[in-house]
Amino acid sequence: MASTIGFIGLGNMGGPMAANLVKAGHTVSGFDLSEAALAALEAAGGKRAASVEELAAASDVIVTMLPAGAHVRKVYMGEGGILDAAKPGTLMIDSSTIDVDSARAVAEAASAKGMPMVDAPVSGGVGGAAAGTLTFMVGGPEEAFQKAKPFLDVMGKTIVHTGDAGTGQAAKICNNMILGISMIGVSEAFVLAEKLGLDAQKLFDISSTASGQCWSLTSYCPVPGPLPSSPANRDYQPGFAAEMMLKDLKLAQEAASSAGAATPLGAQAAALYALFCNSGGRGVDFSGIVKYLRGTS
Ligand code: NAD
Repeated sequence: MASTIGFIGLGNMGGPMAANLVKAGHTVSGFDLSEAALAALEAAGGKRAASVEELAAASDVIVTMLPAGAHVRKVYMGEGGILDAAKPGTLMIDSSTIDVDSARAVAEAASAKGMPMVDAPVSGGVGGAAAGTLTFMVGGPEEAFQKAKPFLDVMGKTIVHTGDAGTGQAAKICNNMILGISMIGVSEAFVLAEKLGLDAQKLFDISSTASGQCWSLTSYCPVPGPLPSSPANRDYQPGFAAEMMLKDLKLAQEAASSAGAATPLGAQAAALYALFCNSGGRGVDFSGIVKYLRGTS
């Protein structure tokens, strides 16, 4: 059934996600601070709203895809924000990658106003957003999850209910902490192999079928050659930029300190990605950390 959807945050991810909701037959109005983003939504068949307030009052479902926790808190809980203007019963879906504490605070405030909400961060990148094949990790009550699922199905391929509010964000940062740590591990091994005179292809052939096997090696190999599809073969153009990895590793560290979890390797990975970003790697694919470790970034 067609719904009236308000979409806030029409950037690299939100733009194509909103376009897919339009394509599925929904009435989509959008709000963004960028004129170009609003024009792109109109070109895709959506409408522009003049303010968050106007959008929220007119929508049955609201999707947000904003940069970070501070933006999400402001857009939902600030003066004239979504929770002030929306009707009770309006479904809220926040797909931004943000800190767990902000996700839980906003969900609690929405619930107090009788508005079901899920945190539904994604993986799959800009390509997945355009193709409608994102993976959604969804935290929130079962009833809110069931209400959100038909809309998430339009924008994604794999939709996983992770548990209560905030667990979608928890899944996203835990996964990306594994990814950041494992990419550094694989990169260090290739740099060591080079110094020891071991050919990269030989190491790949052995480790990809031995106990060193992992996604960072076999699906995203950080050196050119063994895996033609990996960004290493196109001078580390992203892909997934190092600054995005750094953002997620910092979120994992914030969550670890707030929850009292020991994540020493996660802390080390965040520190190494910060050094890589500060030495010019910000917009480089995150697998380019191998160049930093080699001393050639
Ligand atoms: P982006 O910067 O391209 O888009 C964010 C949009 O939000 C911008 O258009 C900006 O103008 C708008 N915005 C900011 N503050 C606003 C406000 N107060 N009101 C209205 N609009 C506002 O970022 P993106 O790449 O689309 O990422 C969005 C989120 O998705 C981030 O949390 C990111 O971590 C996450 N994410 C991104 C990717 C990716 O590959 N780009 C992958 C997975 C998850």
